Amino acid sequence: MGSGSGGTYMNRVKAREASGVIVVGAGLIGLACAWELAGTGAKVTVVEREEPGCGATRVAAGMLAPIGELDFGEPELLELNLRSRRLYPDFVATLEAATGLDTGYRHTGALHVALDRDEAGELRRIMELQHSYGLDPKWLGPMAARELEAGISPSLAGAVLVEEDAVVDPRALTAALRAGLEDRGVRIVTGEVTGLVRDPAGKVTGTETTRGRFDADLVVAAPGAFAGIANWLPDEIRPPVRPVKGQTVELRGDVDEPVCERILGSERVYIAPRPDGRVILGATSEEMGFDTRVTGGGVHELLREAYRLLPDVAEMEFVGAIAGLRPGTPDNLPLIGPTAIEGLILATGHYRNGILLAPLTAKAVGELAVGGEPEWLLASSPARFEHQEAR
Ligand SMILES: Cc1cc2nc3c(=O)[nH]c(=O)nc-3n(C[C@H](O)[C@H](O)[C@H](O)COP(=O)(O)OP(=O)(O)OC[C@H]3O[C@@H](n4cnc5c(N)ncnc54)[C@H](O)[C@@H]3O)c2cc1C
Repeated sequence: MGSGSGGTYMNRVKAREASGVIVVGAGLIGLACAWELAGTGAKVTVVEREEPGCGATRVAAGMLAPIGELDFGEPELLELNLRSRRLYPDFVATLEAATGLDTGYRHTGALHVALDRDEAGELRRIMELQHSYGLDPKWLGPMAARELEAGISPSLAGAVLVEEDAVVDPRALTAALRAGLEDRGVRIVTGEVTGLVRDPAGKVTGTETTRGRFDADLVVAAPGAFAGIANWLPDEIRPPVRPVKGQTVELRGDVDEPVCERILGSERVYIAPRPDGRVILGATSEEMGFDTRVTGGGVHELLREAYRLLPDVAEMEFVGAIAGLRPGTPDNLPLIGPTAIEGLILATGHYRNGILLAPLTAKAVGELAVGGEPEWLLASSPARFEHQEAR
């Protein structure tokens, strides 16, 4: 960790202990940042207006699949995703050891399936693109794919295996973080942040909330999809984050005979396994503002496409469906870093990859808090959108 220009690392930690850090939002991003900061000895308060983990976090499938989405227009995002996936095993191991709770993290791998010849052509093209990035997904013919996953549609045309991908249960991870934060003395306050408190020089000295004023010498803003309409953030630094609605379906199966071992994906759906025999089907992607209604069309589409990929889902118990809001940004990169306002760090805009990017975001915020400037963070600097007209 860097020592920063304003004193040694320990001095800075001590200075911060006096008034502490406020984290706004207890989604996975806010909780992971609080965990990291508290681990350095900082006095941390998290302010959440509803329940911890009640936003996009509880809806997410929990795939830790940096190249799984096969979207390669975004090399900088890929780089961040790969970095964060490398951090995951240690991140969850530390948390699980501290709390004794299972986060549902499993190194399963992922199988991307082409259900007809056209899809196979597209999948091969994407795999070649992945190879050009130095990645190593493997092409499997139909028989080899069904040897790995016996339940997938017999009419498949081929598949790509990504052995490195993993899954976590975002709700279990939230519960473990809550327990871990309690052990580390972090207070989670139920209330809404309504304003920043600043000194005459403009530096942040705290937040106004519906539960009163809290002093802090550092504020970490992690309000997820609400960042773009967060009136408590000054116009010049309020980021252009928009909500992108996604629906997921939860099915329950037999823990001793899981319908699949790996993450399965086709062009139109993915199936993420949980250790207890459940699966999560995801996800729709809809530009519907802040609407979080589950729709018949959304559920129908997910069930239809999951059935095409893995017919056994028809026998599973329907547990429920849920919708949430991904914090989307204009360039699909997150916003992690200091702002033009001293003492205010943004940690939002994680769009489709917030579960995956949580450990990296936490590490970055931990380093920034003590004056570090991680060079690998440049692409996600909030500065790229500052001074734009607020949305
Ligand atoms: C359908 C779907 C599937 C997904 N699947 C995956 C996946 O498989 N893998 C992956 O990596 N990512 C996935 N994601 C993306 C991931 O869920 C998000 O990127 C991530 O959860 C964002 O976390 P967050 O903490 O920023 O936001 P949130 O979880 O939305 O939390 C933000 C919190 O801030 C609180 N808040 C906002 N404003 C205030 C305020 N003023 N005062 C106090 N509190 C406030 C909110 O109440 C909320 O609890 C998926 C998302 C969706 C919708």
